[in-house]
Amino acid sequence: MKIGTPKELEQGEARVAMTPDSARQLQKLGYECMIETGAGAAAGFSDALYKEAGVEVVKTAAALWKGADIVAKVRPPMEAEAKRLRDGQLLISFFYPAQNEALMASAAKKGASVIAMDMVPRISRAQKMDALSSMANIAGYRAVIEAGNNFGRFFTGQVTAAGKVPPAKVLVVGAGVAGLAAIGTSTSLGAITYAFDVRPEVAEQVESMGAEFVFLDFEEEQQDGAATGGYASVSSPEFAAAQLAKFRELAPEMDIVITTALIPNREAPELWTKDMVEAMKPGSVIVDLAAEKGGNCKLTVKDEKIVTDNGVTIVGYTDFPSRMATQSSTLYATNIRHMMTDLTPEKDGQVNHDMEDDVIRGATITHEKAVTFPPPPPKVQ
Ligand code: NAD
Repeated sequence: MKIGTPKELEQGEARVAMTPDSARQLQKLGYECMIETGAGAAAGFSDALYKEAGVEVVKTAAALWKGADIVAKVRPPMEAEAKRLRDGQLLISFFYPAQNEALMASAAKKGASVIAMDMVPRISRAQKMDALSSMANIAGYRAVIEAGNNFGRFFTGQVTAAGKVPPAKVLVVGAGVAGLAAIGTSTSLGAITYAFDVRPEVAEQVESMGAEFVFLDFEEEQQDGAATGGYASVSSPEFAAAQLAKFRELAPEMDIVITTALIPNREAPELWTKDMVEAMKPGSVIVDLAAEKGGNCKLTVKDEKIVTDNGVTIVGYTDFPSRMATQSSTLYATNIRHMMTDLTPEKDGQVNHDMEDDVIRGATITHEKAVTFPPPPPKVQ
């Protein structure tokens, strides 16, 4: 069978779902690989590199979609791409099925199977295919780099002949995958790093990375994240008030605030209010990784960088992984390659779409002309 990757149509999207290296691995599984000309260019992979890796470079998207039995891409298909889907074809991409129901229904009607990379169950066995985590890790790292780029001082403290420089103080709000990556990057650059999460079980992880976990002086336990499969749920009004009071106390001290707090299927909680921004020193920076879901900071403008009247820079970009396209394409293409490995147990270049397999079942949103989303809960954890 042939697996092909088109050039992403979304404006500004620099990632690509197949790299020369991943193509080599896919060929070992028995597949022939195709790529649309220029698809890897923005991520640093030229047509020549793909040709060297044995990939057929095709001139148009039409030829790619026509020739490929399996299409691997990054973004959910746009209208022009969805139209090209056909009976028996397999599409593997991010899809966000709950937000794209009509698109999903049309793929099912056409007889195309769709594996949504954002639906890969978060169980140990599936970590190698967990593209959400791969991208969140990059976003967390890049958030710190972006903060540094907009911050006028060093992260680390220094004693120089020209004077003593204090270390920067960084607060990371939300210690999931992106938050932990931000914490690791911040501490490795030498900043004094603080972190807060509603799930106290992450305190140990935070501390093992050299950061200080911010505990609230609150009678109830911080949230029992374990009850919701590791995800956060909405805080009680009393807890939320205690959290905001703590942040209000920290705001004047912090040089950089990186917010990553999310609650599944909801708008991002508003945690950094206007008065907190106003209390920050001029030159401070906020990077709001929750901007896509409305932002954790009240003043965040999605996809923009703004500077407030009191000189605080607020970054609301939502394309951090695409800003590191070589790295993110490499990890994403590897996630896809691992998915293909599980879909090809015989290594014979033929897809065995085993709906009894928890991971494949969980990620499959259309199959054999039916919508198969939402999946049943996985049997194995
Ligand atoms: P996420 O993106 O849904 O949320 C980011 C963080 O924000 C979470 O840690 C959450 O607790 C926190 N948060 C929510 N509301 C908050 C508030 N009001 N104040 C402060 N923080 C708040 O999280 P994620 O990175 O997708 O990770 C979610 C869970 O999934 C974690 O428990 C993680 O360890 C787990 N996980 C497991 C696997 C696996 O086993 N394969 C892979 C990835 C993640």
